[in-house]
Amino acid sequence: MMGSERSDEQASAPPGWRSRDFKVLLDHIPAGVVIHGADSRAVYANRCAQRLLGPIIDLMRTYPADSGVVPLLRADGSALPADANPVSCVLRTGRTVHDTVVGLPGDSVRWLICNAYPLHDAEGRIHEVAVCFTECTDLKRTEETLLRSEERLRLAMQGSTDAPWDWSVDTGLVHYSERWWDMLGFPHSHGERDPVAWRTQMHPEDMPRVDAFVASLVASGESTYSVEFRLRHRDGHYVPVLSRGFVQRDRNGKGVRIAGTNTDLTAAKEAERRIHELAYFDYLTGLPNRRLLIDELSRILSRSDRNGEYGALMFIDLDNFKLLNDTLGHDAGDALLREVAKRLRGTVRASDHLARLGGDEFVVVLDDLGTSERDAIHEARLVGAKLLEALAQPHALGARPSISTPSIGVAMFGAGAGADSVDQLLRQADLAMYRAKAEGRNTLRFFDPDMQAAAERQAELEGDLHDAIGQHRFELYCQPQVGVDGRLAGAEVLLRWRHATRGLVPPDEFIGLAETSGLIVPLGAMVLAESCRALARWAGTPLLRELTLAVNVSAQQLRDPGFVDAVLATLAATGAPPQQLFLELTESVFAEDLDAACAKMHALRLHGVCFSLDDFGTGYSSLAYLKRFPLTELKIDRSFVKDLPGEAHAGAIVDAILALARTLQLDVVAEGIETGEQRDFLVARGCRLLQGYLLGKPRPMAEFEASFGAADA
Ligand code: C2E
Ligand code: CA
Ligand code: CA
Repeated sequence: MMGSERSDEQASAPPGWRSRDFKVLLDHIPAGVVIHGADSRAVYANRCAQRLLGPIIDLMRTYPADSGVVPLLRADGSALPADANPVSCVLRTGRTVHDTVVGLPGDSVRWLICNAYPLHDAEGRIHEVAVCFTECTDLKRTEETLLRSEERLRLAMQGSTDAPWDWSVDTGLVHYSERWWDMLGFPHSHGERDPVAWRTQMHPEDMPRVDAFVASLVASGESTYSVEFRLRHRDGHYVPVLSRGFVQRDRNGKGVRIAGTNTDLTAAKEAERRIHELAYFDYLTGLPNRRLLIDELSRILSRSDRNGEYGALMFIDLDNFKLLNDTLGHDAGDALLREVAKRLRGTVRASDHLARLGGDEFVVVLDDLGTSERDAIHEARLVGAKLLEALAQPHALGARPSISTPSIGVAMFGAGAGADSVDQLLRQADLAMYRAKAEGRNTLRFFDPDMQAAAERQAELEGDLHDAIGQHRFELYCQPQVGVDGRLAGAEVLLRWRHATRGLVPPDEFIGLAETSGLIVPLGAMVLAESCRALARWAGTPLLRELTLAVNVSAQQLRDPGFVDAVLATLAATGAPPQQLFLELTESVFAEDLDAACAKMHALRLHGVCFSLDDFGTGYSSLAYLKRFPLTELKIDRSFVKDLPGEAHAGAIVDAILALARTLQLDVVAEGIETGEQRDFLVARGCRLLQGYLLGKPRPMAEFEASFGAADA
């Protein structure tokens, strides 16, 4: 009976209560109560309602509920239509409105949860509507925050590639998200209900560790966890994952549910590997870089110190790499470097150490070469020879096969030999490499203490060179250039330095220094001015007036922005005939800015100045630039002439150069002719200008002038 309406009605009037008691009660209950009349206007509000509604209650007394004067909000924040007002609803439908959330507009919306029900008169007509409400603003805010954070979570999950899953430890049921299967390359439906899928996909090596981890996790009091393992992808490879999540526990603290997400670590692992690689390996060739080499070397040095075994450090530098890089393009340059790395790998033992120091510099370290220094040196020499041979094989880079030779410097270490630090060892090998370059390239040199002394001398020389320019300590020598008929055609100007203590220093010992220090520009200007003065002087001597003078010009000089103007100014100042001035450039000029070099040559050519390509055949001459540049002649390098006529290779090169010169209508000068056989061979092949000790050694200009001009006098 308790739950029936009748007993409720009876219970609504406690024995002996008067209506005043109800009013008192109404004012004390912690809920708002408002009674509306049949016209929907408020007729009564208890104390709590007055507090909650404030001035609004007066509006409610004055205006009908559906007038819209008190605009209410729906739970979702939108405006509540006037006819949906709970009071109007009750009046219209006669039914109770339960637990409706409405918002009261204001500076900040306040939320009420309302119940509204009809009160009937004796005839059963609705004569009043009672509305009870409590404030639920805080609850509503909490709910909104929750919704927002859920939304955020949902969006975050959507945006992330993490794969959620959920495991009930008790039932063994596992829910795998779509992403979980995605990560392993399976369609979503695959093994959806397979409770052990995560175990069957796990790498067998990871299983024992993960099992132990899970067991201790369930037993421990931890509420979160993170563990790494590998899961097999559908295509067979293993995906490294980081699994993170939480553990839900029952009242006894036993883990009942573990849920979390798996993050694919493939990219992170790859990045980790790449970072290590970038730090210690050369990206282009995959060889260890300088940093790793230095680390390894210090270990190798201290080991050889302990066990008394010798080792060798070989410093390898490619000859003319820059020229090739600039003429064939950087892609070809990169390809060459990769090829060199491959050949080095293929030549040395797997236990030897390889590195690329940068640019075209490579290092090979041979250790454990035994305790006999002689045997170790012998062994290093053998490996060096193999390296020279492997690297000198032609490369299929551009259209034609090209040859790139190395120069190798070797420094021995171990048992008191040589260097006592990594730094010093590298410097010694570097010095030996420079010696190899200076001695004709494509060769190998061992470091010896003389080199150290020579290097120190060089440094000293550079200082002296600077002073010498100011003190006019240079002299010009002339070497005759002769036609096939034996008549003198001209001369090449060769520079000498009369050093205060060293005597006459040949250009090979100071031109390089002048170039690296920038002194070549003033030095070259001096040579040019003196040569032009000679040409002007000779114009007045019948036997000399038709002679040409060839002046060597370094790439650095041509690169100087003032070069063209300086040459023209010198010609004008001295009155030398421009068409008798030959400027000798080497192929290294073409490693510079080709357009700029070309423009400068054309500008001078317009004034009659001639250009000669020196040391032809040693660099990477491409037909393309030979055609483009306004050259007058090619000089066959003396390294080819030296091997004539016996050596077939040299003969073939000379033939090729002469054929090329004919095609391009260039004159050819052969230099370095020392024997009659060489001369005869060259003349027979059609070479028309000859230079070399056979025809005349370089002599001081005054002497040259006196001897050839004297016949006239
Ligand atoms: P280069 O231009 O190739 O000069 C020819 C070199 O070969 C000269 O050496 C000359 O003395 C030498 N030579 C000539 N005939 C023979 C021969 O029959 N047999 C042998 N074994 N050698 C011969 P030099 O005078 O020592 O000059 C060496 C290099 O120095 C020159 O090579 C040139 O590149 C450079 N050089 C000389 N003078 C100047 C200069 O004024 N300015 C610049 N930038 N470089 C110069
Ligand atoms: Ca020359
Ligand atoms: Ca030459």
